[in-house]
Amino acid sequence: MTTYITTPIYYVNAEPHLGHAYTTIIADTYSRFRRLCGEDVRFQTGTDEHGDKIAEAAGKEQVSPGEYVDRISALYRKSWPLLDIAPDNFIRTTDAVHIQTVQRVLQQVYDQGDIYFGEYSGLYCKGCERFLTEKELVGGNCPDHQRPPEQITEQNYFFRMSRYQQALIDHIHAHPDFITPERYRNEVLSFLSEPLEDLCISRPTARLTWGIPLPFDSRFVTYVWFDALINYLTGIGYPDGESFEKYWGAAEHVIAKDILKPHAIYWPTMLLAMGLPLYQRLHVHGYWNVGDVKMSKSIGNVVRPAELAAEYGVDTVRYFLLREMSFGLDASFTSAAIVTRKNSDLANDLGNLFSRSLAMLEKYTQGLVPAPGIALEIDETLTQAALQMLSQYHENMERFQFHRALQGVWELISHANKYIVVSEPWTLAKDPAQQPRLSAVLYNLVECLRLLALVLRPVMPQTSAKMAAGLGLENDDPRISHFPQGAHWGLSTAGTRLQKTEAIFPRVDNPEKEQSAAGKSVAVSAKQSAPAKEKKKAKVESVEIGVIDFFHFQQVDLRVAEVVAAERIVKSDRLLKLTVKAPEERTIVAGIAQYYTPEEVVGRLVLIVANLKPVELMGVQSQGMVLAASTMVDGKKRLVLTTVSGQVVAGSKVA
Ligand SMILES: [Zn+2]
Repeated sequence: MTTYITTPIYYVNAEPHLGHAYTTIIADTYSRFRRLCGEDVRFQTGTDEHGDKIAEAAGKEQVSPGEYVDRISALYRKSWPLLDIAPDNFIRTTDAVHIQTVQRVLQQVYDQGDIYFGEYSGLYCKGCERFLTEKELVGGNCPDHQRPPEQITEQNYFFRMSRYQQALIDHIHAHPDFITPERYRNEVLSFLSEPLEDLCISRPTARLTWGIPLPFDSRFVTYVWFDALINYLTGIGYPDGESFEKYWGAAEHVIAKDILKPHAIYWPTMLLAMGLPLYQRLHVHGYWNVGDVKMSKSIGNVVRPAELAAEYGVDTVRYFLLREMSFGLDASFTSAAIVTRKNSDLANDLGNLFSRSLAMLEKYTQGLVPAPGIALEIDETLTQAALQMLSQYHENMERFQFHRALQGVWELISHANKYIVVSEPWTLAKDPAQQPRLSAVLYNLVECLRLLALVLRPVMPQTSAKMAAGLGLENDDPRISHFPQGAHWGLSTAGTRLQKTEAIFPRVDNPEKEQSAAGKSVAVSAKQSAPAKEKKKAKVESVEIGVIDFFHFQQVDLRVAEVVAAERIVKSDRLLKLTVKAPEERTIVAGIAQYYTPEEVVGRLVLIVANLKPVELMGVQSQGMVLAASTMVDGKKRLVLTTVSGQVVAGSKVA
């Protein structure tokens, strides 16, 4: 199996920012995931270097366009290794081979009559470098550039895009995964429900020379569409290269939503005109806002990826971006959010599990992997949770649901932390008769850590490597570097020597807490958990007394609902206002704000009681109740949302 994954080529009129970094980290993570699965992967990124804006920017710096693009392109190329992004190919549209192929394609499409000469008068936005339709304007302005377009009349060459409209519509209908997530597929289909206009693909050299000369008319150059989009082909050696044969059939593109139309409409119609198969999937993500504000150069809130990596660490940045954004929706970047994720998810949950497990292995089994023992029910539950995580992880990574894949991974981490508290290895260690049980518990923790190192490898390569080293495994051992080979329970070998390693995620604030986490956290949480456990038990018993009959049960309208929006309720640190589809939209107020951020719950399937009498909470009408399980993690109560284990349509009845 092969994979070909691309980012857009980035326009060199600006330096790399958080948005570029996100797109490229997504593509990098996906390429690492496919490699983990044993596939032959090609990952390409690059820079788009022709056009008005580039010539203009170079003029301002009083350098030639060539010098200018060399400088900015190098900035991109040098940024990526700082984020552990490892493309196989970095393409530039000023590469000689690229220019040659673009001209060859133009000639072919021109010869077959799909490019014609015509006059065009229209509203031209310099920012977009294209003509806009009246419909696209918002209050007379270009919606992306907030300024009115100019009326321009000029003779130009046009691509007969309209000729391929129906073929594209048919293709989208026949291939449900062609554009994902679904909302963008719908957007494209809705746009295609109106007749397509032909696409202007040239500029007169009188106005622009920084482009690729048309092979059939030297008075014109091409740039953007027939220049930029074709990079996906030239980067793999189209038309004759071996790599083209090998990879094109597996092509997947990742883009931000601002370039949906060129990728979902212009590009496939160009491919149809060229007689080439279309790409397999287009993955569309939303925008990163800074706080609540759109990131922009003019506002001056641009977040630079290299600075982020230096401040928080590469793996924290990669994890945060993948975890915080529901793929397809917008997300908000704040320093507070990244610090919180680092402290709670990485230091507290993952880091603590790793360090306390290795510390116990050092102390109780002399730093050797113990023998697995007889599995009790609590062990089976842990194993099942791990196996379930593995299968969901694979499915979600394939579907670009990175945030969901990571949610699942963190559920296993919580489970394992809880397993330690409940199993009390420190108590078992006091009783020689309990030695086999102690071994079994510690072996199970080694297995959990190994599987975590395996699944985190594409997301956090450095952390995964440190974990592997701690577990005494070579970094290319299939047990932590191959899925599914390593994705089974019980592959750790008894007697393997573990290695002492530094903590993988020390907390970033509060030095007092850091001490206790390193030394006493195990004992502390064990003590705290005892009375809490008793309380919970008492509650369960009282519920059992109130048995209901089937008739009463039937009165409860339980349904699967999809959370489509969520926000905090002002003045409440406990309540989230959720908009759910079940299948009609309704508002439900849920007391989960201490355990979930609004971004975390959007897109989830949850279980609700749909016919609970509506109540008003903090001024909001709540029409139903979201079900959550109450559990103990590290001696603290935590609510975990319930869900269904398979794909179910929102509104499905639960009985
Ligand atoms: Zn514009």
